[in-house]
Amino acid sequence: MGMENIKIPKLKSRYIPVYSANFAIGNNLSWWKNTDEYHYPNVLFNLMTITKDDIKKLEFPEDMFLLTDSGGFQVIRGECDLNWQTSLLKQIELNASKIFSFDKPPVRRLNEGSNQFISLTNIEAIKILEDNVDVALKQSKWLKENNPQYLNRFCYIAQCPSISLMLENFKILNKKIGMENYSKYFPGGIVLSCKGNDLLLYAICAYKFKKEFIEKGMYVHSLGIGSFQRMAIMIRNEITTFDSSNALRGAINWDVYNPINPQKRLSQISKNSYPFEKKFCLCPTCLKYNYNDILKNDDTLFGRTIIKHNLWHQIQMNILLDSLNKKYFTDFYKSNFITSKDMEIALDFCDDADKLGFEMAVEKYKFYLKKELSKQKSLF
Ligand SMILES: [Zn+2]
Repeated sequence: MGMENIKIPKLKSRYIPVYSANFAIGNNLSWWKNTDEYHYPNVLFNLMTITKDDIKKLEFPEDMFLLTDSGGFQVIRGECDLNWQTSLLKQIELNASKIFSFDKPPVRRLNEGSNQFISLTNIEAIKILEDNVDVALKQSKWLKENNPQYLNRFCYIAQCPSISLMLENFKILNKKIGMENYSKYFPGGIVLSCKGNDLLLYAICAYKFKKEFIEKGMYVHSLGIGSFQRMAIMIRNEITTFDSSNALRGAINWDVYNPINPQKRLSQISKNSYPFEKKFCLCPTCLKYNYNDILKNDDTLFGRTIIKHNLWHQIQMNILLDSLNKKYFTDFYKSNFITSKDMEIALDFCDDADKLGFEMAVEKYKFYLKKELSKQKSLF
């Protein structure tokens, strides 16, 4: 037909889908090529699952925004042998749009060989953060001396498992380089890494990063935010990019976004009970494919294709929230989306922090914070 595919507008805060290079190549499923139903040139791959050859096969456009992680977490899991230098070299080789410091999360294995992780005491965690800053500074120096053209992409990953440890990152950076010099060492920006299920912790960290970085024109990425509620907290605080595997992982489990209410999933969809006789959605992907025919021949193709339906609706929610004047964000969210008490508290915190200042708002809301992570058993 010679029709242009749909271009997603530039967003102030944007969702980065976590995807697998293997899957994209093996199934020829993408959303960044001219031949795709819509054009959304953003993706995050796990550093260990992608190679330089994959990059050629993926046929990225000029404006592709490619992120990877640093590999630090996989080292803890025992699944990779990268170090501070090879992590940098690999990100450079892949031409990642941002280069992340080699971070180790402040956790340890529950026991040898276990894939469960528990948090450390505050003293142990602070030691890890100090090590992370030292490694990141060593990487910054190495980039400056050996690959100066990549230094402007370099970001420090701040592990923030609690408010006090979030602030500890700034204390350590301030002690070692002075916060006013941050962008000389990390001109690419900063990465916020929160874990756990406390929405207020996410809101407090995102707000602090907005004040310290976003408002000074610097890039902030929030790692692995997961749920839709956390995505809304990131957009409320104008965090530049945030990744989640939600939209894509779901399709493997017949997890199909409800096109009328994307916060919900369509129930009763399974291999043996597909409820629709005709098209149920007019998103660009659903317009193109006939699922009733697909399911007759190959039900795995349904799962693969519905990924792009899920992603489309995730982006629609991103576009809607991104378009809001932040003054109206909380009221708009509360009256138009499914919300929880915890979510309302997290959004109210952001509004109060605008009125009272960060410190006063933290004082007012800190009693709502869930237990310090050091008392939680398992983190991931
Ligand atoms: Zn659809």
